[in-house]
Amino acid sequence: MDLRLETDVDLTSLNSFGVPARARALVRVRTPRQVRQLVDHPDLGVRPKLVLGGGSNTLFVKHPESMVVKVEIPGISVVRDDTAATVIDVGAGVGWHALVAWTLDHGLPGLENLACIPGTVGAAPVQNIGAYGLELADRVESVDAVDLTTGRLVTLDAGACRFGYRDSLFKQALAGKSIITSVRLRLPKPWTPVLGYADLARHFARIGVAAPDARQIFDAVCEIRRAKLPDPAVLGNAGSFFKNPVVNRTIRNEILEDFPEIVSYPLEDGNFKLAAAWLIDACGWKGRALGRAAVDAHHALVLVNRGGASGAEIVTLADAVREAVRSKFGISLEFEPFVV
Ligand SMILES: Cc1cc2nc3c(=O)[nH]c(=O)nc-3n(C[C@H](O)[C@H](O)[C@H](O)COP(=O)(O)OP(=O)(O)OC[C@H]3O[C@@H](n4cnc5c(N)ncnc54)[C@H](O)[C@@H]3O)c2cc1C
Repeated sequence: MDLRLETDVDLTSLNSFGVPARARALVRVRTPRQVRQLVDHPDLGVRPKLVLGGGSNTLFVKHPESMVVKVEIPGISVVRDDTAATVIDVGAGVGWHALVAWTLDHGLPGLENLACIPGTVGAAPVQNIGAYGLELADRVESVDAVDLTTGRLVTLDAGACRFGYRDSLFKQALAGKSIITSVRLRLPKPWTPVLGYADLARHFARIGVAAPDARQIFDAVCEIRRAKLPDPAVLGNAGSFFKNPVVNRTIRNEILEDFPEIVSYPLEDGNFKLAAAWLIDACGWKGRALGRAAVDAHHALVLVNRGGASGAEIVTLADAVREAVRSKFGISLEFEPFVV
């Protein structure tokens, strides 16, 4: 199928903040071959490109000048099934939550803790999505991507992806330089539930289930998330707007002296992750609005579009929150979504 260039495309419904933006040019790619065709194309190949999946981690502050490449590659298949694991190959355009539901429908547990995360499979490795005690990195076998300069299809194993906390090679050295076309996920056997996350443990203690199965974990994660996070269809948002800052023990202890109630979690490397939501709440920003943008009243990490906000208004709010946290705690919060 040939590539079709769409012009002057409204992106409002293609980003979960629901902020207005228009793409001068947009191309939808539905196969890895089309991605390579795009790179080799005499006209389109040389244009700067902005890759877009579901737009749930992208904030448009202006009309993108680059050509938007919307990744819509479908397909889920089992490529290996042995005593140690089932490995599935998933097209980058498949919806992440739809994939998690598919795995459970096909008796393949292992992704249930990551239920209800919006967006596409192709974007999942970019920031190494994570929730409820599990990260994508825990399940990745390899990632296929097309190099936007050479048009070559490369396969990166999990180690080569350099996954970190909301981080990967695709966000660093390969940022804007490749299009992920498919992801291979390894679902280990026997299945072991991941129940260490406090909210999940509390949920099962409350309903009196000692050994939940994968479907029960999936349902619990969806229920907890729906109660906690605003639905982008109702109130535009991109989930957590700030990453939880990681500090060393000295800094954490200094803050602890002044703020003994601060929420922090020890990491394996000796550093500490501070709860950004707690820092924001302590600065009095939870539930506060600045024009048409606001910090969500239930979850201080989430910034919302109260209706009609522009991307710039949301960034103005984010900067104000960041400045409040910096001046009270001396900590600089990092944005999680990609600001375009
Ligand atoms: C309500 C809500 C809850 C959320 N909860 C979580 C959560 O619990 N955990 C979490 O980690 N995230 C969470 N997110 C953030 C978001 O869902 C994830 O980051 C998701 O992976 C983004 O997918 P997307 O397709 O929408 O990405 P997009 O916003 O379209 O793109 C994000 C970035 O990835 C790049 N990209 C997209 N597709 C490709 C591709 N095929 N190849 C190369 N680069 C690509 C884009 O260029 C951009 O830089 C949440 C968001 C919302 C709205």
